Amino acid sequence: DQTRELLLSRIRDIADYPKPGVLFKDITPLLADPVAFSALTEVLSAFCESRGATKIVGLEARGFILAAPVAVRAGVGFVPVRKAGKLPGATLAQAYELEYGSAEIEVHAEDLAEGDSVLVIDDVLATGGTARASLELIRRAGADVAGVAVLMELGFLGGRDRLGGTLRGAPLEAL
Ligand code: IMP
Repeated sequence: DQTRELLLSRIRDIADYPKPGVLFKDITPLLADPVAFSALTEVLSAFCESRGATKIVGLEARGFILAAPVAVRAGVGFVPVRKAGKLPGATLAQAYELEYGSAEIEVHAEDLAEGDSVLVIDDVLATGGTARASLELIRRAGADVAGVAVLMELGFLGGRDRLGGTLRGAPLEAL
């Protein structure tokens, strides 16, 4: 539809970034366009409300930018999931595999609790490793997963399949 066309038109492909052979999806033109950014915020907050989420998790770093205005609009709390070593308080950590090597993400343990229903927001779902690790963190904190929403899904990387069982029936929405 029209919104989808607008959003797509504000995403820029950058060849060979961050390394040769990768076509990087750059969302900065979308962020710089107030009409597009607002439309994205509106669609994501409608999804948040339809899922009855009580918290929104944003994944560092572009996920923060998209998730924060959605949380304000939907009237729910924002919780950052960060790369290891960045959060000052007591954290839960989750390691996951990258194409080469591994990574670790963390959340403040006190930010999520039993009874919370959490929507995860990020810009791009690629292999699905980051999103999957975030779902594991959320469940280990005792909370439920309301869904995952991303602006773009790079379908050829199989992220949806990798997330598969970890979603346990929660929806993965890719705009
Ligand atoms: P995954 O764990 O392989 O699914 O990678 C997803 C993470 O990498 C997300 O946090 C994205 O922000 C980032 N990412 C991967 N590919 C791109 C891209 O083309 N553009 C922007 N971010 C990307």
